[in-house]
Amino acid sequence: MHSNRNYSLQSSNSFNIKASCSHIYFPSTLAELQQLPELTADKTSSNTSDNNADSFYILGEGSNTLFVESQAPIIIQPKFTGIDIDEQDDHFVVTVGAAENWHKLVCFCLAQGIYGLENLALIPGSVGAAPVQNIGAYGVEFADFCQQVQWYEFASKTLHSLTKQDCRFAYRDSIFKQAHYNKGLITQVTFNFPKAWQANLTYAGLDTLAQNSTALEVMTQVIALRSRKLPDPKQLPNAGSFFKNPLVNQKVFAQLQQQYPKIPHYPQANGEVKLAAGWLIEQTGLKGFRHEAVGVHQQQALVLVNYGSDFGSDIISLAKYIQRQVVDKFSVLLTPEVRMVTQQGERSFSLLPDVNPIGDNSND
Ligand SMILES: Cc1cc2nc3c(=O)[nH]c(=O)nc-3n(C[C@H](O)[C@H](O)[C@H](O)COP(=O)(O)OP(=O)(O)OC[C@H]3O[C@@H](n4cnc5c(N)ncnc54)[C@H](O)[C@@H]3O)c2cc1C
Repeated sequence: MHSNRNYSLQSSNSFNIKASCSHIYFPSTLAELQQLPELTADKTSSNTSDNNADSFYILGEGSNTLFVESQAPIIIQPKFTGIDIDEQDDHFVVTVGAAENWHKLVCFCLAQGIYGLENLALIPGSVGAAPVQNIGAYGVEFADFCQQVQWYEFASKTLHSLTKQDCRFAYRDSIFKQAHYNKGLITQVTFNFPKAWQANLTYAGLDTLAQNSTALEVMTQVIALRSRKLPDPKQLPNAGSFFKNPLVNQKVFAQLQQQYPKIPHYPQANGEVKLAAGWLIEQTGLKGFRHEAVGVHQQQALVLVNYGSDFGSDIISLAKYIQRQVVDKFSVLLTPEVRMVTQQGERSFSLLPDVNPIGDNSND
């Protein structure tokens, strides 16, 4: 299997943080997966069968990953490639390797006359990471077209085919962040695209398009909207939305709405209300805020940007500061969407304590 030692990860994370790992493995076949050394997701955890095992992190294209320390754990970067199309009477079944680029897949499908993913154009990252947080944008999410996910389980060293139901998709969530978390990795994804296609134009910004718009017109509009609002990580390093949109119960929402009648809100099927994290941050006056080499994007308050810091801890300090400002104003806790990785593996970082002054993260 292809692997490397003392590998720089700076070009493998969209925050452009200077980090490196002692080992990186690039498995591209089942046999190579079976050769991976014994690893644990968390070296500090007592819940491991082998205390000598090294901690690890599964990396796609690093566009939802923040390396918090300059030393990263052992990295596994799956390299399963290939796109296979199986045309049926009324639908297409498309099977894609985890290492394929998401946006390239969207463009490829449209070029083949396979429609459905156009609203998800220009989302950075790999196909293998898409099921993990059930990527979504402009009223569509990954789960809408998922038929099956092929998942390699470390313990049994075997491949499992998980149906859409098995994956338990929810808002920015799936079984891969819950019960299957760090117990294996995704090698392949299978989509089902019905031939009977209708443009999904429900979302603000797409509702100006004609009802008979083509998939290409929808994609062009999505790309234009995203390019206007979101910084290109190659120009201004970032990882997209840093925080999730918070969910609150009806009682909390009623109190907030009384105080802030214009608060954007999206009622959920389970009775909860989703709030717009970007709006909450904007109301604290932090849109466009900059502290030394990191800041809050000028057009989109939910995106934290790196103007030139080498250190993931600078982003953490900023995130804590934002979290505190939002809690003080709204009593709502923002939780990170971005995955935060230390030398010991991924950390959830309860960001709240000690946020003042910015830059002090001694209680990590
Ligand atoms: C400018 C910008 C805009 C964005 N817009 C959106 C958006 O509109 N909607 C949205 O949902 N997201 C958005 N994101 C976030 C990001 O694009 C997605 O989370 C994407 O799926 C990350 O892919 P990746 O390969 O870079 O994942 P990575 O950052 O490498 O990994 C993300 C997570 O997936 C896990 N993972 C990666 N590959 C595998 C695998 N093969 N098997 C198992 N686990 C794996 C990692 O361990 C980690 O937990 C945006 C990011 C940026 C930078």
